[in-house]
Amino acid sequence: MSESHNRLSLADAQQRIAAICATRRLPSESIDLSRALGRTLAVDVCASRDQPFFTNSAMDGFALRGEDLPQSGSRDFRLIGTRLAGDQTQIVLGQGECVRITTGAALPLSADTVVIKEHALVEGSTVHIACGESPGSHVRPAGEDYSAGDALIRAGQRIGAAHVAALAAAGFDRVNVASRPKVRIMTTGDELVMPGSACGTAQIYNSNGYALAAMLRKEHIDPDQAHGARQDSDFIHLRDDPESIRAALVEAARSADVIITSGGVSAGEADYLPGLVADLGTIHFWKVRMRPGMPFLFGEIGRSLIFCLPGNPVSTIATFLCLVRPALSILQGRGDATPQLLPARLTQPISKRHDRTEFLRAVCEVRNDASLWVTPVAQQGSAMLRGLVEANALIMVPEQTTDLAVADIVQTLSLLEFR
Ligand code: AMP
Ligand code: MG
Repeated sequence: MSESHNRLSLADAQQRIAAICATRRLPSESIDLSRALGRTLAVDVCASRDQPFFTNSAMDGFALRGEDLPQSGSRDFRLIGTRLAGDQTQIVLGQGECVRITTGAALPLSADTVVIKEHALVEGSTVHIACGESPGSHVRPAGEDYSAGDALIRAGQRIGAAHVAALAAAGFDRVNVASRPKVRIMTTGDELVMPGSACGTAQIYNSNGYALAAMLRKEHIDPDQAHGARQDSDFIHLRDDPESIRAALVEAARSADVIITSGGVSAGEADYLPGLVADLGTIHFWKVRMRPGMPFLFGEIGRSLIFCLPGNPVSTIATFLCLVRPALSILQGRGDATPQLLPARLTQPISKRHDRTEFLRAVCEVRNDASLWVTPVAQQGSAMLRGLVEANALIMVPEQTTDLAVADIVQTLSLLEFR
């Protein structure tokens, strides 16, 4: 492949992925609102009626006509009935009349004011109200939240709990969302054994299979189940054997929208993925100027996009967050694809001597003056997971930056959503 495909800057790599994923948008489907959390709206949702639909009371009290309120002293109102939330009968108030009303009950016609019950003195069918109440208070006018026809939530929005609430309040029991990508996870490496099995010398536990499945679930995507020898699992594990990897890629490419692999993508003796992707499909680019994560490869095989992540556990996670997660967003038509960065001040100097964007695991904390400060964790090796467990952010040190001093401002990528 040409040199221009190699060692892209992180920004260029993100742009190329975004451009290709934008042409591969997944179709939409209609689903039950109760299943919509984490999904992405495929169409704008507009209100079909005003909200609230009818003018109603914001408090428990007495509904009356504001113009009848006393300017001074107090006034006796005639209590002509009770309005509970849900009552559908019409009442019209005459001059000097009031009704007892509960929160959410429709206001009687001609009433425009609610006096809270704590401000009223009831004696039989007379309600004494002193001056000082404001006309129009404690009322929720029809349409004050939004009007029929207003756009409530835009296409491309990921549905959170607030959106579920707003959609239900607007009467929707189903929503049109982007289909979820079918994602197949594969890990590679002769040295790996499954957690729970005996781990010999020179062997390590397979953490990336679990990490990738967990990160996908954070995206509300269940990994495509691999049918292993023993049981179905979230990922398929392959030995460093080109023929088995080839067969697994061919099989996955028949149905997956996205294939994510871990390991075997550098330039070592047993790194077969670049050759296999080139052979079976197309490499869009290989290697990104980031650390950790440089050997990352993006390509396609058949109808599947393939993301080959380097095997070091922190590299796997960093490349997933910077390059795969945005791709999954764009495939579903989401607008929030680029990772959000927060500026913070360094508590310690940093220096680097390479031309890559560096991600340092770090702890961000807010000080009393509302400033955000960030401290890199002590151990930054790309195989070391302890620091990642402690970290709540990644410091992003730009390609050209070499030295940063205490109190310099750096961009940080929050890991709170990821944890
Ligand atoms: P590779 O990218 O295959 O050269 O692997 C780089 C490093 O990551 C090696 O030390 C591997 O043992 C380690 N590694 C690869 N895959 C995994 C995995 N699934 N879980 C944990 N470590 C891994
Ligand atoms: Mg390997």
